[in-house]
Amino acid sequence: MNEYDSNRIVDLTKKINFNLTKNIEEANCYILNTCHIREKATDKVYHEVGRVKKIFRGRKKPIVLITGCVAQAEGDVLVKKEKYIDAVIGPQSYHSINNIISSLENKSKKKNFTEFETIEKFDTLNTVKNSSNKISSYLTIQEGCDKFCKFCVVPYTRGPEYSRSISEIISEAKQLVQNGSKEIILLGQNVNAYEFEGKRLSDLLISLNEIKGLRRIRYTTSHPKDFTDDLILAHNNLRKLMPMLHLPVQSGSTKILKDMNRNHTIEEYMEIINKLKTIKRSMKFSSDFIIAYPGETNEDFEKTVSLLKDINFINSYSFIFSPRPGTPAANLKEIDNLTAKRRLLIFQKIAEKIKKNYKVGLINSYSKVLFENKVKDEFKYFGRDEHYNPVIVSSKSNLVGKIRTVKIKKCNQNTLFGDIIFGNKAIEYAA
Ligand code: SAM
Ligand code: SF4
Repeated sequence: MNEYDSNRIVDLTKKINFNLTKNIEEANCYILNTCHIREKATDKVYHEVGRVKKIFRGRKKPIVLITGCVAQAEGDVLVKKEKYIDAVIGPQSYHSINNIISSLENKSKKKNFTEFETIEKFDTLNTVKNSSNKISSYLTIQEGCDKFCKFCVVPYTRGPEYSRSISEIISEAKQLVQNGSKEIILLGQNVNAYEFEGKRLSDLLISLNEIKGLRRIRYTTSHPKDFTDDLILAHNNLRKLMPMLHLPVQSGSTKILKDMNRNHTIEEYMEIINKLKTIKRSMKFSSDFIIAYPGETNEDFEKTVSLLKDINFINSYSFIFSPRPGTPAANLKEIDNLTAKRRLLIFQKIAEKIKKNYKVGLINSYSKVLFENKVKDEFKYFGRDEHYNPVIVSSKSNLVGKIRTVKIKKCNQNTLFGDIIFGNKAIEYAA
């Protein structure tokens, strides 16, 4: 979502004649868009600002703005502690960035812009063209969270759940397709909690599926609690909806899920996975895991490992619990570092083995790949298959934006390598 926000900030500031530069030394405004989900986020901000200071030593400093969730969480503390920072702007206030920049240029004293103005934000963004022309583009449809998992900072930094209207989403999606995007990844902290005037995510997906020229649709991140049957059915009915789901589970132990205030059991989680697998055999899954949450016993941890093996997640993102200031779990007794690290290591070793076995199993199979860009080597192209696996092929003709059938020949831990079949007459999967 920060990538989406950063791009939208660039779109907004074009109105006051600011353009993106790849050369930091020529910047007259420096914006650091931050994430606060795990530890050291604030330290990283000071470190990064220190780097900018060094670059501009002895020269006119740029306007320095900190946006995103660290700005929201730390607010005044950042500007008081680091005078080089001109202002902090929260994730629901960045639509005012042009006014903020001009007020700073006019020496205004206000430095903290962290109000929750989600409606005004999207009203403003709707008036500014989304200029992303990537083959695969992000589109925020929902923001914020009302679920308050005990470990998580999101409800405090992104604010309450908010869904954009179907019409504004469709209009932005059409802009992206016009710009050349072939795939849209719908974003939300709880994307499947999407609800606008009684319409759910499945209704929105039906409308997006109709857009001519749009070839693939994905959405992330979902919460098990909101995974209703209409969404499961959409995976059977909508051809453009990819058979891949990122569904964070956090722990394999229902007891820990209860402690975390996740509001679902492992049985309920398994039911969703099984329904999806039944309705669409090609469905694959990835997940997030928090290892060593306070109170996690060896037995709880073993349950997480069993779940990992049972579901065969093709990607698993695992992190040791990180106490976030202001969240209820921050006051709980932490598991000792050695145990936490040992568990994480065990978990990641198994997760990586599952991933490698899965990739090796794809050798000699055929995948439909949407190509996104040329890699440095002149005749190589990078794309993703339906399950979001990175794929690289050699080709003399330009593949960017094309969907081609690829025979997988080899792999490493992350990437599949293959050959296009049928040469230039590759099968096109018409929209
Ligand atoms: N809304 C999604 C859900 O409920 O599953 C997840 C969104 S959260 C922004 C992304 C991931 O960060 C979570 O799935 C969780 O695994 C991880 N995360 C959040 N807070 C964390 C913490 N305090 N310590 C470690 N990992 C954390
Ligand atoms: Fe954070 Fe997701 Fe829980 Fe919301 S549902 S509090 S975003 S982990």
